[in-house]
Amino acid sequence: MELWGARLYGNPCRDCEFDWSLTPREAIAQIGYVPARYAALVKGRRGDERHPELDWNVAAYVSHVTDNLRNWAERLAGARLTGARQVPGYDQDLLAQARFYNDVPLAGALWSLRRAADAWVDSVSAALAEHVVLEHADRGVQRAEDVARNNAHDAAHHAWDIERILAHADRSTAL
Ligand SMILES: [Zn+2]
Repeated sequence: MELWGARLYGNPCRDCEFDWSLTPREAIAQIGYVPARYAALVKGRRGDERHPELDWNVAAYVSHVTDNLRNWAERLAGARLTGARQVPGYDQDLLAQARFYNDVPLAGALWSLRRAADAWVDSVSAALAEHVVLEHADRGVQRAEDVARNNAHDAAHHAWDIERILAHADRSTAL
């Protein structure tokens, strides 16, 4: 069984300090705020800034968060609408490769993120109301509230990655 959530990252997350004890409603509020948070974070930036330890640039992280939200919103909607609860894992690196994340213009990535976050809030709110539970191939039972927390963490964690990249970019240009 694949480790996930607080057991994988620690509580709070040892990197981004995300507190896993938040309620599903708080997770939804956080995702509702993600597009504005990310827009503020990257304001005035190009999107192609890099960190030597990370494969993805700033715009790529935005695209990853977008696709993660879309993927889970779709899975919860599928289970809610049809009762099909079994979901596979997905390979985020293959997706990044297929979509050429590092070449996505930052403004386009942010445009997509806004729409994905809105759709996610709709889908996860409905899934919580109907107590949707997924059976994930690698993680086992994933309740709608587990998905809400996991996705809120993913967005918070990658905001932290983007902060690291931009801090590195600023140090490099200061030299
Ligand atoms: Zn984290």
